[in-house]
Amino acid sequence: MTFAIYGLSVSNGVAIGQALTISSASLEVDHHFILPGEEQQELKRLYDAFGAAKKELTDLKTDLPENAPEEMAVFLDVHYLILNDPELQNKAIELIKKRHFNAAWALTTVLDELLETFEDIEDPYLKERGADFRQVIERVLVALKGTSHLEDHPLQKKVDRESSEVIIVAQDIAPHDMLRFKELNFCAFVTDLGGKNSHTAIVARSLDIPAAVGVKNASSLIKQDDWLIVDGDRGVVIVNPPSIILEEYRHRQAELRLAKNKLQLLKHTPTKTLDGQKINLMANIEMPEDAAEALKSGALGIGLFRSEFLFMNRQDGIPGEEEQYQAYFQTVTAMHGMPVNIRTIDIGADKNLDSDLKTITSDISPLGLRGIRWSLTEPDIFLEQLRAILRASAHGKAQILIPMLTQVKEIEQTFELIKVAKQQLDDRGVAYNPNLQVGAMIELPAAVFILPAFLKYFDFLSIGTNDLIQYTLGIDRADSSVAHLYDPVHPAILSMIYKVIYDCQEAGKSVSICGEMAGDATLTRLLIAMGLKDFSMHASQLLMVKRELLKADMSKLKNYLTEILTSFEPHIQAKLIENLSKV
Ligand code: PEP
Ligand code: MG
Repeated sequence: MTFAIYGLSVSNGVAIGQALTISSASLEVDHHFILPGEEQQELKRLYDAFGAAKKELTDLKTDLPENAPEEMAVFLDVHYLILNDPELQNKAIELIKKRHFNAAWALTTVLDELLETFEDIEDPYLKERGADFRQVIERVLVALKGTSHLEDHPLQKKVDRESSEVIIVAQDIAPHDMLRFKELNFCAFVTDLGGKNSHTAIVARSLDIPAAVGVKNASSLIKQDDWLIVDGDRGVVIVNPPSIILEEYRHRQAELRLAKNKLQLLKHTPTKTLDGQKINLMANIEMPEDAAEALKSGALGIGLFRSEFLFMNRQDGIPGEEEQYQAYFQTVTAMHGMPVNIRTIDIGADKNLDSDLKTITSDISPLGLRGIRWSLTEPDIFLEQLRAILRASAHGKAQILIPMLTQVKEIEQTFELIKVAKQQLDDRGVAYNPNLQVGAMIELPAAVFILPAFLKYFDFLSIGTNDLIQYTLGIDRADSSVAHLYDPVHPAILSMIYKVIYDCQEAGKSVSICGEMAGDATLTRLLIAMGLKDFSMHASQLLMVKRELLKADMSKLKNYLTEILTSFEPHIQAKLIENLSKV
């Protein structure tokens, strides 16, 4: 049956392929009845899996690094105790013996019952302990399948068909899972949940594949192997399209490919507006390997390296100083002396760490210990990162960028720790650039209103519009139900952006935008009218923005700004912004 479902467009283009539906839980297991007489064999599988899970936990504890946080060992102990709880095993044994469930099915049934009990608990701390049971049982389930935790992840299920024709359909995808797309090369994805500027959507855009999020019930309406068209421009998914529609979309696909190839011609053109204003276009990256794409698009540096992605999808602890140093070294050397703004870990909100490390940063709310707040509570981890960046600065233009600052006290503590990190390297006789530049993200309204403090301490600023919008308008950027209210051109947002650009220029400090607004070509002229000269975006967006810039005249556009900034009627403001394209 053909039908269309609608959501939010997060990454443009058209993809045609077959659905690979992925259950949100990694507990997607085989359910079947065992035959009479197979009970002992199935019980043995269950005992072996418990044994393997216990061994895994013991090994993890033995291998814990000396500087591992105390909670890590406690967490492993708790899981070990759960594994040894006879009741847990007994219930599963009973289901295998009496109801002939296979072991995996028996275990998930026990888990479901347990989680229900936790749901009824009022105490928030105890309620959360349900997650421990889930993690322990997941570990046993993985052992049952005889695979490692990571390899068993549903996204690793490489199907036997060409991956370039596979469209992932899921209820939701975490940002760290999106990273796996980079390796698996899917052609599009569709999720039930998610907002336009969630980190998942941002990573999707960086992959330059069409995607639609907030497509309600997609994962239940779409069946495995259904043929799909993902119209990323409109956020529409057409399920089992008739051949006439398929043909039309194949034609559009070819047109888009042609237009993209044409854009490549601009790669080496210097970025200057019509009135001769030089504009600096840089790239946002998540991993060192992304630097190659940045260079290919003609980026003049890395405006934002989201270093937290180095900390995701790991089974072997947080990357230490040496491992981080290698990653930063790889990036700065790839960028051949161009600036690389390494943002210190910004964990929290929709970016949580996967797997065992979750205990350290489990579910930090957007208003919680996110970004620099977390780093300041984990000075040892923060110092490791600072030392790694400092060491990379001896080999290229590594710069530090600090996320989520709101208070002068935090700024002072940050600089104090940078001083400590430098001293530690001096003591070890390790080289770094003593004049390395330090910048701050401006992404909370409070930061905008104490800008003089930021200008006093920092060498450069970068406006994080994704969070600035989220925190100014009170809109969860990952929640599709309020996506229609997430408005980058809300007058409050525009006046804040303009204020930051203006004040920085008055103070002679460089300022860029590294939020998604920078890569939205429909807003390029507006940002130019505000006097913005430094942009940072995903490499996939860079040439489209460049094309706009080459046709824009900054001096003329500036004349229209006051009217836009003082227009509070949405339809009038929209018209005024649209008119900029005619200037
Ligand atoms: C932002 O908030 O605009 C930003 C660039 O940071 P992130 O999207 O990683 O929160
Ligand atoms: Mg941010």
